[in-house]
Order: sequence, then structure tokens, then C-alpha cells
Amino acid sequence: MGLGQFFEILEYVCFLTDTFFAKVNKDFTSQICPNCGTHTGKKELNVRIHFCPECGYEQDTDVAEARGCT
Ligand SMILES: [Zn+2]
Repeated sequence: MGLGQFFEILEYVCFLTDTFFAKVNKDFTSQICPNCGTHTGKKELNVRIHFCPECGYEQDTDVAEARGCT
């Protein structure tokens, strides 16, 4: 297969992985501080900012979920 096709497949796998981790993030990662690992508790779905009271780490959860395949 050509190189273009290879990247197409890579992109597709990347998309699937992204979708999977976005789902996982919704359930788990948003409750755990990525900086210190402290459980910050269940968040309402409309809360888009992750904030850790332990270390003060703050991050837009949209940005956290958008990262992945870069
Ligand atoms: Zn923290």
C-alpha cells in the first residue's frame, strides 16, 4: 500500500483512540488531578474547568480531552 494510505489508516486509528480516551476522560480523568493525582471529586457536566484544591492545578477540560494524537 502507498504511504498516503498508511497515514490514512494511522489517522483513523488515532481518531478511534481519541474517541475512546475522550469517553474515559469523561468518567475518570476529570476526577483526578493530572498534576498530583488527587481525586478532586465528581464534576457536573457543565463544569469545564478542572481545578485541584490540593496543588492549585487548573486546566480547561476541553483542552485536556482535545490533546491525544499529537
Ligand atoms: Zn493537584
